[in-house]
Amino acid sequence: MAPGDCLGPRSIGSSSRTWLLWACYGSCSAGRLRSYARSKSWLKRCLPPVRSASSFSVVVSIQTGPLYCPNVFTSAGSGSGTSTALTYNEIAERHWTRGSMKPARTSQELVGAVMGSELSTLKVGGPCGSFARARNASELDSVVKSDARALGRKPTVIGFGSNLLISDDGCRELLLQFKDDEANASIDPRSGLVKAPASMPWDRLVAQTVDAGLQGIECVSGVPGTVAGAVVQNAGAYGQELRQVLREVVVYDTGQFSFDVLKARNCRFGYRTSAFKSEKFSRRVVVEATFQLRPLAVSQIRYDDVARQLLMRHGIGPYPLAAIRQAVLDTRSSKGMLLGEDRNPSAGSFFVNPECSGLELYRHTRVNPRLREIPRTKVGYRTYRLSAAALIEASGFRRGFRSGSAGLSDQHALAIVNLGGACADDIVKLAKEIRSAVRSEFGLTLKPEVVTLGFGRKADPFKRS
Ligand SMILES: Cc1cc2nc3c(=O)[nH]c(=O)nc-3n(C[C@H](O)[C@H](O)[C@H](O)COP(=O)(O)OP(=O)(O)OC[C@H]3O[C@@H](n4cnc5c(N)ncnc54)[C@H](O)[C@@H]3O)c2cc1C
Repeated sequence: MAPGDCLGPRSIGSSSRTWLLWACYGSCSAGRLRSYARSKSWLKRCLPPVRSASSFSVVVSIQTGPLYCPNVFTSAGSGSGTSTALTYNEIAERHWTRGSMKPARTSQELVGAVMGSELSTLKVGGPCGSFARARNASELDSVVKSDARALGRKPTVIGFGSNLLISDDGCRELLLQFKDDEANASIDPRSGLVKAPASMPWDRLVAQTVDAGLQGIECVSGVPGTVAGAVVQNAGAYGQELRQVLREVVVYDTGQFSFDVLKARNCRFGYRTSAFKSEKFSRRVVVEATFQLRPLAVSQIRYDDVARQLLMRHGIGPYPLAAIRQAVLDTRSSKGMLLGEDRNPSAGSFFVNPECSGLELYRHTRVNPRLREIPRTKVGYRTYRLSAAALIEASGFRRGFRSGSAGLSDQHALAIVNLGGACADDIVKLAKEIRSAVRSEFGLTLKPEVVTLGFGRKADPFKRS
């Protein structure tokens, strides 16, 4: 975080907590820092030795309140130096050798502040003042018990950030990234039972189950994110959805500091949603997921693009799971639905495909007969799901559309991309334009698939427009 990237005076307040947050975000002169420390004795104890008498000297990110060690960002020079994030242990070694201030934890890496753009695949978002990482359940437990409790708030847990839109003002809550790129699932190839740590990358899990010959999630290959993110979003693609094979999840309650097992039927899964997105479940962190996959089963390929590829390469099926996985990955690649360094940052599909009843559809079609041309699938008794990408294109936003630094993917009209240097406001502006164009053309309101963070309830960009 560069010194200028602070939230600044908006966070100034008289209560000790707001004051503490100001200290977190603000960059200030050594003199000012000392004078604050004089009025707050605990802060004095927290401060590292400040030598420079003038200009910007240190940015103190006090994550955990008076009783814990603050993270310190030491500026490279005065005023405009770039900050270096130090790990908890490094900070402890450099600044904390006194009494009760010794580090209590060693395993997890704590990072004081981080830009939201580093946490989301869209690469937008401002400074998130309190940020921690955990790789497994015990690290999660210890971070929540120490940091979240000291801050007095429940943390917001994120995974890979592949479905996040973080505000330019950043996030004030404690962001906890639960992710471990090296984690492995425990797989029983005979029964098809798969237990996966929720911090594990989703596509790694798919690859491991395909290697083990288990059918059930091979069509969801290539979806970025963690297993937890996939559970929360009920990730799906090419005819398969996570809820079809999920048996149960282990959750951690950040209020009670306890673990619990939830059966899949209690997770209230819907199209790209689950109970974990509701206020009631917001304290529950998914830490493990158990899937029931099928050994020796044959996959049903319902999607034309994937089926065509398989037919061309392997003739008439049944196809090996590895071939299906590869065909899905190739199809995703041709649609710009894979992440890669050579691709513009995105969050995949920005909107979900809208659903409406037959009657609604009839009414909208009478107003605009072009609605007949929009592809749809029947998803329930008299309920239809329409292609959001086709609606967007029919409303005048073609693939490759550009609006400043934000635009639409060249390969898929549903993916809003950061063309380089976009901020969250640019993305929101384009999304709102698209939404109102679709609404005025077809009378249908697109709902975002991405989860917004840091906008506040009232300022949620997609609630009002
Ligand atoms: C190129 C691209 C293609 C994509 N294609 C698809 C697709 O085909 N199908 C599809 O379904 N999605 C797709 N997505 C969206 C995204 O990858 C999925 O929704 C993914 O499952 C999100 O996982 P994540 O770890 O990145 O979650 P994040 O984006 O980090 O978080 C998403 C939500 O989950 C919550 N969350 C994360 N971890 C936990 C936890 N441990 N406990 C409780 N809550 C948690 C967060 O608070 C947030 O609300 C795509 C995204 C991209 C960038």
